Amino acid sequence: MTDPQTDTEAQITVRDMVCSTCWGSLAIHPAPDRMNNVLCRSNCEETKGYVSKAWAEQEGSKRKSELLEVQRAYPELAGKQKLDQTEDDINDSLGF
Ligand SMILES: [Zn+2]
Repeated sequence: MTDPQTDTEAQITVRDMVCSTCWGSLAIHPAPDRMNNVLCRSNCEETKGYVSKAWAEQEGSKRKSELLEVQRAYPELAGKQKLDQTEDDINDSLGF
């Protein structure tokens, strides 16, 4: 669970951070004693913490390029062959 924050803290958190679980955007929920809970907008059961937007973007593009590398190295895993096959190709491979 995350700690309640003041108005200013909460605004900065929403501006600069995303949910550490799903990297989704955050929303401010007013709490008692003029504090605010900054919680995930998505359906995360519990907002466990935050990561900076910059970190999430960097990490996201890194993972995307890793995924592309894997798809290039193992096209059969990516299902690309199937998508590129036409009806004729399939008939050819079946001997028609
Ligand atoms: Zn979340």
